[in-house]
Amino acid sequence: MAEPMHCYRHPKRETRVSCATCGRPICTECMVATDVGIKCPDDARLPRGARAGIMKSGQVLRSILAGVGVAVAGIPIVYVLFLLPFTWLISAAAGYGAGVLINRAGGRNGGPLAIVIAVLATAVPFLVLLAPNLLAGALNPRPLIAMVFAVIAAGVANRQI
Ligand SMILES: [Zn+2]
Ligand SMILES: [Zn+2]
Repeated sequence: MAEPMHCYRHPKRETRVSCATCGRPICTECMVATDVGIKCPDDARLPRGARAGIMKSGQVLRSILAGVGVAVAGIPIVYVLFLLPFTWLISAAAGYGAGVLINRAGGRNGGPLAIVIAVLATAVPFLVLLAPNLLAGALNPRPLIAMVFAVIAAGVANRQI
């Protein structure tokens, strides 16, 4: 039998189990069973992409903050977009860029929540600028089509890979 090791968190406890990631010995009380073997609590907490699509609360917060930033910064950008030719094409590119930004802020997890944040953040500047027309009931379809392209592109950027 190999020399018994001692749990790194409980130096008095003997164990024959060690963490699959860092190799430190851990006792049965401390060990955490994961999809990739037994791990210490420190490493079990850091799945490193093993749980893609599930954002931690800090990443959700950063995604939302990035979304608010996109929504605010997007207003002048969309205003200019409406003055340019091929608005729908540039809107799709801008929407994709906004989506990528939000995706990165969320730790590149993507997933349904990131898509919702990206879609809302991308739609807001369009809705703000289109609101007067919407309220007047006199909306031409061109900016709406551009918005749809931008929103889809933002969502696509956050799909789970
Ligand atoms: Zn470990
Ligand atoms: Zn222990």
